[in-house]
Amino acid sequence: MTIKNKLRAGFGFLFLLALICCGLAIWFLNRLSADSSVILKDNYETLQFVRNIGNALDDNESSLNSQQISIIEKNLVGQEHNITEPGEQEATDSLRSRYEQLKLQGNNIQKQADLRLQIRKLLYHIMQLNMSAIQHKNATAKATASQATLIVALIGSFLFLIAFSFIINFPGYIANPIRELTERIKEIANRNYHQQLSFNSNDEFGELAQAFNAMTFKLAEYENSNLASILFEKKRIETIINSMHDGIIGLDEKSNIIFANEVACTLIGITEANLIGRYAPDAAVENDLLRNLLQTSQNRIKIFADNRESYYSKEILSVINKDKAIGKVIILKNITEFQQLDEAKTNFIATISHELKTPISSIKMSLKLLEDKRIGDINTEQKQLIGNIEDDTRRLLQITGELLDMAQVETGKLNLNFGSTHPQNIVDYAVKAIKFTADQKRVNIDVHYDENLPEVRADLDKTTWVLINLLSNAVKYSHEKSVVNLDVKKLRGDEVEFSVRDHGQGIESKYLPRIFERYFKVPGATVEQTGTGLGLAIAKDFIEAQSGKIGVQSELGEGSKFYFTLKKVG
Ligand code: ADP
Repeated sequence: MTIKNKLRAGFGFLFLLALICCGLAIWFLNRLSADSSVILKDNYETLQFVRNIGNALDDNESSLNSQQISIIEKNLVGQEHNITEPGEQEATDSLRSRYEQLKLQGNNIQKQADLRLQIRKLLYHIMQLNMSAIQHKNATAKATASQATLIVALIGSFLFLIAFSFIINFPGYIANPIRELTERIKEIANRNYHQQLSFNSNDEFGELAQAFNAMTFKLAEYENSNLASILFEKKRIETIINSMHDGIIGLDEKSNIIFANEVACTLIGITEANLIGRYAPDAAVENDLLRNLLQTSQNRIKIFADNRESYYSKEILSVINKDKAIGKVIILKNITEFQQLDEAKTNFIATISHELKTPISSIKMSLKLLEDKRIGDINTEQKQLIGNIEDDTRRLLQITGELLDMAQVETGKLNLNFGSTHPQNIVDYAVKAIKFTADQKRVNIDVHYDENLPEVRADLDKTTWVLINLLSNAVKYSHEKSVVNLDVKKLRGDEVEFSVRDHGQGIESKYLPRIFERYFKVPGATVEQTGTGLGLAIAKDFIEAQSGKIGVQSELGEGSKFYFTLKKVG
């Protein structure tokens, strides 16, 4: 039965019981009212007739007058039509005959008195009969009333019990399945899909339970298939990562190692089982390479594995999800082949530039001889051509010199000749070397020293080379008749700073981070300005090899300031 029909039946039954109770009460009330009407009609009217006849008789003791006769006649006829009790008919008939005799008696006083007495006795007898009938009927009505009270009370109690059990059980009947359903739904929200509703009644709740159980079954099935496909995808990604030639290590946001492919494990020298799940800094304590990978900013790492030396480039990628870092991936790319090619290139450049230096120097020498008057006179045009050749030879020498320096740095063959020297020595050499070029452009080099400068620990030649390079760039990129400031000052701590400031074209900020890269030249240089793009890169190597720092500040249109520091002696 459906809940709707159950509710209808329950309320209908209660309503029926209430109706029966009311009907019975009305029926009993009607019965009581009928009983009292009968008493009123059957007996009370007889008592009235009898009293009226008696009163009429008592009006006078002599012969009956016409008024008495009419009253007695009227009441006697009424009584004759209201015979209700056993014995009442005979008494009424006797009353009629005595009355008729009394009417016929003329002056016989004695006889009249006698008949009057008999009539009174008969009246009294009829009265007695009706009085006892009234008493009897009253007792019957009382019995009916108490019977009605009992039956109504019984039905009322029954009704109360049913209503009470209805009140106790009905809310639970509706609420319990709903509560169970709510609990199951909460479990489903926690991804616990194996939920079943246990009520299997034939009503709407039963249908709901069936539908719910079918739904959870489908959900669990879906979850399982989803899990299987996720596991499959995971396996596939693991296989891809493992088949890569680069070493790959994955860290979560708390720096725990979550995966490492075979290449990475071989390089690090720890098995995958001993690596996965470990806190990376802990694992790094026991492993130099891992420590190197996690800590140093060095991007090129030399690794000795599989009985040979290999070079790897390190790249650390942050994994970002919805603006939140959720981990890191370290990629180790094998660049041994490129490294070897790079070395071959550097050696080639070194050999070529070294081989070129001697013939270029001899060309220079021959040009000097050509200019000598003793060799012979040369005309103005020839002199100009020789001047051009001299310029080009100087530039060629500078380029080969720079290439050689760079090759030295790259092959690690940079030999530094450290000594203690006063900053003024470096400045004097450099200013002297650049003076000719500066004068040609009418650029004034304004030198300024701090007082009491300490001696610095430096390779005099290399440092002078760096300062000449900075001054030469400053002059090159300055406007004519401008000033280049060369300042030397003592910094806090144990450092001395050399800075070269020009007021020329300046450098766009987007190029500043690349200015010390090899072969980098700011786009848009004129033919006279353009060089190899190696000067600043070599300067950086020379300064850093002496534990110094090199940097630049520049603003487009305002000029640039290049500076480097050296450590003071002691
Ligand atoms: P180059 O031999 O080309 O001068 P450098 O390494 O010395 O090579 O300089 C690299 C680039 O930096 C130059 O090509 C130039 O564009 C820029 N540069 C260097 N110094 C200055 C400066 N003082 N003012 C403006 N640009 C400069």
